[in-house]
Amino acid sequence: MPVFYLAELMALAMGHEPAEIGLDMHRVSVASFLEKWQARAGDKEHLAEHFDVSLLVKCDACQACKDDCPVCKVDPSFQPNEIIAALLAGRLDEVIADGQLWKCLECYTCQEMCPSRIGMAETFRQLKELAMVAGAGPESVAAAYAEFLKSGALGAPRESARRKLGMGPLPEGGGDAVARLLRESEE
Ligand code: SF4
Ligand code: SF4
Repeated sequence: MPVFYLAELMALAMGHEPAEIGLDMHRVSVASFLEKWQARAGDKEHLAEHFDVSLLVKCDACQACKDDCPVCKVDPSFQPNEIIAALLAGRLDEVIADGQLWKCLECYTCQEMCPSRIGMAETFRQLKELAMVAGAGPESVAAAYAEFLKSGALGAPRESARRKLGMGPLPEGGGDAVARLLRESEE
């Protein structure tokens, strides 16, 4: 089993190269440890492309709002803190492929309860975006998104329901203009 000085681990964590701090001179090879270390460092870099890792680390250590999430209260299978821990453990692709993330309502209760105003809603919003880009989002969301791009709206109002309530027709919406803007912004 490789043995390290604390200072060596700190130097590694600060970004020094293994050879620079003499890890290649250990009597017991540290190669297998370094392989795992470098894989974890790669995972963190990948995570940092999309998230503020320092905020994820704070949430993972804190978990104070764990019992306040309205979704957790009715569906204990949704555990946002476990999802944050999975991200930090380098399982981003697994989290994106898992439908659990779609259970977050982005209600911001966690942010309101958070003494540091961090919250997890933005993390879940970003995860959903990544899932959509990876083609791992629910079909209903993909269909709604395609409809929004096409028509600039998520659906037409039901005139029959309005008539039943004695309401007049809605004025012309601006869906076409929104769709045109969306198309132009993609060009
Ligand atoms: S934003 Fe998501 S994680 Fe936070 S309380 Fe609401 S549902 Fe729960
Ligand atoms: S959102 Fe705030 S209260 Fe909730 S786990 Fe993260 S840091 Fe803690």
